Amino acid sequence: MTTIRIARYSLCCSTLGPGVRGVVWVQGCSQRCPGCTSPEMRDYNGGIEMDVKELAERFDASPDLEGFTFSGGEPMDQAEALTELIEELRCRRGNNPSFMSYTGYIFEEIRKKLSFFQQKFVYNIDILIDGPFIESQYANLLWRGSANQKVYFLTDRYKAWESRINEPGQGLEFEFDENGVIQWAGIPPLNFRENFQKLMEQHGVDIE
Ligand code: SF4
Repeated sequence: MTTIRIARYSLCCSTLGPGVRGVVWVQGCSQRCPGCTSPEMRDYNGGIEMDVKELAERFDASPDLEGFTFSGGEPMDQAEALTELIEELRCRRGNNPSFMSYTGYIFEEIRKKLSFFQQKFVYNIDILIDGPFIESQYANLLWRGSANQKVYFLTDRYKAWESRINEPGQGLEFEFDENGVIQWAGIPPLNFRENFQKLMEQHGVDIE
């Protein structure tokens, strides 16, 4: 049994990649980007550990998803489990789902030193967005929040999107998880995290 450590997942997201997608936010990241909007996802012991097959099964509740996006946390640090998740999702779903991933690493710096499973993971990805979030380079761009982050179209599937990568981002989405906790997805404006948290605390609402 292969397990994956995740912070959370979404069964329906339209702001992190083409079409309506499932999203997995993996738990654990060694970087400490100032202004990181998901600091609770950096601890490698946080989140929950799940069987990869069980996670794939949960996405059966959303049969029409175009594909899946991996964010975090650092997806590249869980390349083996994510590669197995990709294989499981491909087997379970008849629609040839697409796959997109974020990484806080600089792709040009790490591409020659990837481990076996990181290579396998990248081989299965259609779109990769690299680089850490840098607060001083904040920008509202398609699928990313700072201007240093590059979009790599690693397969031909979404080539038509190449001309659109400097369009504005697609906003934020909010949903309740199965425990009634609000979770959000998308590229937030600067200071969103603090402001939103304060607002929700005033109303006694839990957020992830
Ligand atoms: S790479 Fe992402 S999760 Fe990691 S510290 Fe930077 S912004 Fe946060």
